[in-house]
Amino acid sequence: MLRISTFRRGGVHPHDRKELSKNSPIEVLPMPSSLVVPMSQHLGAPARLVKAKGDVVQRGEMIGQASSFVSADVHSPVSGTITEVTRIRLANGASCEAVVIRPDEIQGEMFTVRHDWKSEDPKALLDTIRRMGIVGMGGATFPAHVKFAIPEGRKVEALVVNGVECEPYLTSDYRSMMERADETLEGIMILSRILSPARIVIGIEANKMDAARLLDDRAREHGYPIEVQPLKMKYPQGDEKQLIKATTGREVPSGKLPIDVGAVVCNIGTAYAIYEACVFHKPLIERVVTVSGEGIAHPRNILAPIGAKAGDLIAFAGGYSRDDVDRLVSGGPMMGFSFADEDAPVTKGTSGILALVDEPVETGVCVSCGKCVSHCPMGLMPNRMFRNIKYGNYQAALDMGLLDCKECGCCAFICPAHLPLVQGFKLGKKMGRRK
Ligand code: SF4
Ligand code: SF4
Repeated sequence: MLRISTFRRGGVHPHDRKELSKNSPIEVLPMPSSLVVPMSQHLGAPARLVKAKGDVVQRGEMIGQASSFVSADVHSPVSGTITEVTRIRLANGASCEAVVIRPDEIQGEMFTVRHDWKSEDPKALLDTIRRMGIVGMGGATFPAHVKFAIPEGRKVEALVVNGVECEPYLTSDYRSMMERADETLEGIMILSRILSPARIVIGIEANKMDAARLLDDRAREHGYPIEVQPLKMKYPQGDEKQLIKATTGREVPSGKLPIDVGAVVCNIGTAYAIYEACVFHKPLIERVVTVSGEGIAHPRNILAPIGAKAGDLIAFAGGYSRDDVDRLVSGGPMMGFSFADEDAPVTKGTSGILALVDEPVETGVCVSCGKCVSHCPMGLMPNRMFRNIKYGNYQAALDMGLLDCKECGCCAFICPAHLPLVQGFKLGKKMGRRK
């Protein structure tokens, strides 16, 4: 019997709305007529474009090279021709260089030869992950070869795999676990060879018990030393610090990293990407995206090439079901980015595209109810930080722990005055750093 665990402090319970798409198996997006592939799809420095307009590229060929230590290679998702080099705006508002690729009509079969990763040493496997441009696919997009290069003298006590997917609406990780269980587990074992952890545990929220049981059964059948830990449905259960607390009991102190308490976290989608990278030498050129929300006609999970436009995916999901869609969101509704341009491309970090219809709300004044304080998983005082930022006292907000704020949105979700707390914290961090 799998016992349910969770983190203690704070958190909220938004309606998960996963019923809209959780029973939709992963479907392959028909090839769009053009793809827009950004050079900045990861945390850190953008990749340096190594191709030019008119160049013919092969599926999986490197087109952008990591330009610094924290950066990642970018590969062509298709065989085709580069028709334009341009600047675009991503769904998160950042502007970056991108190439427009016209796919060939026929895309050959590739990445079918299986490589024996068990014969490779950890360093070689980590280098393969680097060359395949793997980044964290849960949204953080940190280059995987940097994250999994453990500093000399450190020991990994626990490899924690994040199958929580606590953001409402999103079901891409759930579908991956259900449809790619064996491959995902093999990806975890590859990572285990790199990290040599004392323990491996997959955390999965209790609204996905079928996935938890499936992974548990398959791990036993393979003889993998992997534990599956069901977790209570509570947002932000998938945040690294909360996940580590719930699965290992360890608390990551303010300003410290998971490795400081012996933990390394890997998203479930990243584990699958590591499997494809090390077994088939397939770069990260496509990903599963949940297209959902009350404004989508047929919510579904779509395997899309990097560079497909949001509008291509929305059209494949039947388009809009109503004309009062308030906003498009890239990612989940709690931590994702609102965007307006349907031409924004899918990137390595795009877990979802949502068309949301918001309840009209009016912003009031703080009534000092303290709900934001009791629900903050980081133990902060959102009301007081917000007040300080509002009056320009950025240093005071920083002194209260503003930089520990994960921008999870629990405080804004629970606030009866509907104050724009997270926007305030984003501004406060920006202004505080400037000062
Ligand atoms: S957004 Fe920041 S202040 Fe608000 S609950 Fe999350 S961590 Fe706490
Ligand atoms: S939840 Fe909103 S109204 Fe209540 S104390 Fe926090 S900021 Fe003020």
